[in-house]
Amino acid sequence: MPEPGIIIAGAGHAGGAAAAALRQFGWKGAITVIGNEPIPPYQRPPLSKAWLTGDATAESLALRPERFYTQQTITLRLSTTIAAIDRAARAIRLADGQTLPYTTLILALGARARRLPLPGFDLPGVLELRTAADADRLKATIGPGRRIAIIGGGYIGLEAAASSRALGAEAVVLEREPRLLARVASPPLSEFFAAAHRAHGVIIHTDAQVTGLVGQNGTERGRVAGVQLADGTILPCHAALVGVGAIPNDEIAAAAGLRCENGVVVDEHARTEDPAIFAIGDLTNRPLALYGRRGRLESVPNALEQARQAAAAITGRPPPAAEVPWFWSDQYDIKLQIAGLPHDVARLVVRGDPSTGSFAVFHLDADRRVQCVESVNTPAEFMAGRLMILKRRPVDAAALADLSSNMKDLAA
Ligand SMILES: Cc1cc2nc3c(=O)[nH]c(=O)nc-3n(C[C@H](O)[C@H](O)[C@H](O)COP(=O)(O)OP(=O)(O)OC[C@H]3O[C@@H](n4cnc5c(N)ncnc54)[C@H](O)[C@@H]3O)c2cc1C
Repeated sequence: MPEPGIIIAGAGHAGGAAAAALRQFGWKGAITVIGNEPIPPYQRPPLSKAWLTGDATAESLALRPERFYTQQTITLRLSTTIAAIDRAARAIRLADGQTLPYTTLILALGARARRLPLPGFDLPGVLELRTAADADRLKATIGPGRRIAIIGGGYIGLEAAASSRALGAEAVVLEREPRLLARVASPPLSEFFAAAHRAHGVIIHTDAQVTGLVGQNGTERGRVAGVQLADGTILPCHAALVGVGAIPNDEIAAAAGLRCENGVVVDEHARTEDPAIFAIGDLTNRPLALYGRRGRLESVPNALEQARQAAAAITGRPPPAAEVPWFWSDQYDIKLQIAGLPHDVARLVVRGDPSTGSFAVFHLDADRRVQCVESVNTPAEFMAGRLMILKRRPVDAAALADLSSNMKDLAA
């Protein structure tokens, strides 16, 4: 009887990348990728950007052309929900009751949009943005003469605001914290993005506590017509997008007894505590070797890195070198690239003038080592910053702030 083979649970960015990496690394056995969405693995970043504005095609959204999976004899089972893992039997159970055995299981179930336990949250027109279907629903509601209320001033909310403006809609961003991107960016970067969005006509309310969503005629019925704030104000809107973070889809893993702490706990090879089960992507709580801690990352580079880690471990290849975490965001003509993570930051060094639209913020720890760099339209600072983070050497803060000093020399 043939070996059951590898099952990849979740047909998203990490799952699709893991299937490709396994073949690239020489895995000859069966690979089955199972996902509950109706389309083959695709890229989510365009959903809030080019896909929303109509500047991307379905082909460009796809991670790989469909023929890739046929050519590589990778079986795709789409629109299929995985309900449970039976670790003792080495099998997964599908929602329709079928069981499928595995030799190795790679969990790549991603994360889902966080929901707010607020009155009116379920009204029609209250949207979230995680899948292509979500993006299509959102796209259908925005256009000239429409006003979209965006709850949450994080990256997805801000990208959606920029795309809404590009489509001629009014965008109002409601952020609970005193500044945009409060959880994920430095104060200079938050200020820069607030100014950029205001310059494009986005209305921003910080310290805005949303207490509910109201339907037509002020009731909790009908289509959403407004967002209610703690001070009693009702902000009228035609649609509301809730972008308040994501939570890992780790319930199936936890129910199977795998350790989960804000994500499935894995090691630097993407292994769980069960040697037959790996976990990758947004789903995982992973070691962050450069920072001597663990964390859950939500980014494409992380999904790709862990896909390679798992594929290397399964095929007996040497583990890929540890990477500096990174992330990007595109809003209007602003290209933000962030390398590293802002842990243990003692000091910020700003290089360049934010009012020029091109600058970088370096985060240094108490030993003057670069922990993170936020670069706005400055790819050289991003590249050099990445190297500095990897090298873990103290840097000269004055030289870093001096635009006449060469980034390559500073990183050497
Ligand atoms: C709108 C948006 C914009 C983004 N922009 C950026 C960006 O600019 N840069 C960047 O680096 N990152 C960005 N990201 C993050 C990036 O897309 C994610 O980090 C990446 O998709 C993670 O890949 P993943 O495979 O772990 O999860 P996902 O891509 O979410 O894939 C998980 C898949 O598993 C499926 N699934 C879950 N449970 C089950 C089940 N029980 N049975 C079957 N299938 C299941 C899910 O439906 C999904 O298809 C963005 C994300 C979003 C939503």
